[in-house]
Amino acid sequence: MTHDVDRTGDWKARLYARGFELFNAGKRFEAHEEWEAVWLQEPKGHPNRLFLQGLIQVAAAFHRVDTHFLRAAYRLFRSARRKLIPFAPAYKGVDVAALVPLLDAWIGRLGALNRGDAPSHAEYFPIGSGGRGWNEPAREAETSAEKLSAFRAFEQYSSDREVRAACPKCGSGFSVNGRRRAPPEDAERAWTVACPGGCVTLEFAGAR
Ligand SMILES: [Zn+2]
Repeated sequence: MTHDVDRTGDWKARLYARGFELFNAGKRFEAHEEWEAVWLQEPKGHPNRLFLQGLIQVAAAFHRVDTHFLRAAYRLFRSARRKLIPFAPAYKGVDVAALVPLLDAWIGRLGALNRGDAPSHAEYFPIGSGGRGWNEPAREAETSAEKLSAFRAFEQYSSDREVRAACPKCGSGFSVNGRRRAPPEDAERAWTVACPGGCVTLEFAGAR
């Protein structure tokens, strides 16, 4: 995937915003490329990476719907949902609280489909980024080393299904819902990321 990136000026904000324009114009693959170019340049473990990964997976899920890979789309919507929930109610101008039920609707629809059925594109939804978009001020999670590491632990849990991150304050390994390894069945609807030493706890929940 080659994508020439013009890294001049406020290029992350520009690419981020263009991702929404493309997404909302039905160009999901191109939207995913814009967001991916920003994602690649975010420091490892930063919450922005998890957030962008969620958006990228929503775009990729729609691309799979368009190309009739519905099971892959289903998995991507579920994965995107896990990644975006920590950012509710809003992050970088995106109304995450409004987005999650839209993802849920697609998860329900794709989960109920028989092979070969295609969902109606009338159900396609746009995603907007309001406010200052990419330049929305940093949230609290970005301002403490413990919280950043807890985010990293959640990213590992939701992507790699295994937590490796440790608390920078006391050195204990983080747990998510009391585990270091995610259960094979992706049935959790709320997550508690915690340092066993009590240094930091993050609670993420998505109504479902
Ligand atoms: Zn600790």
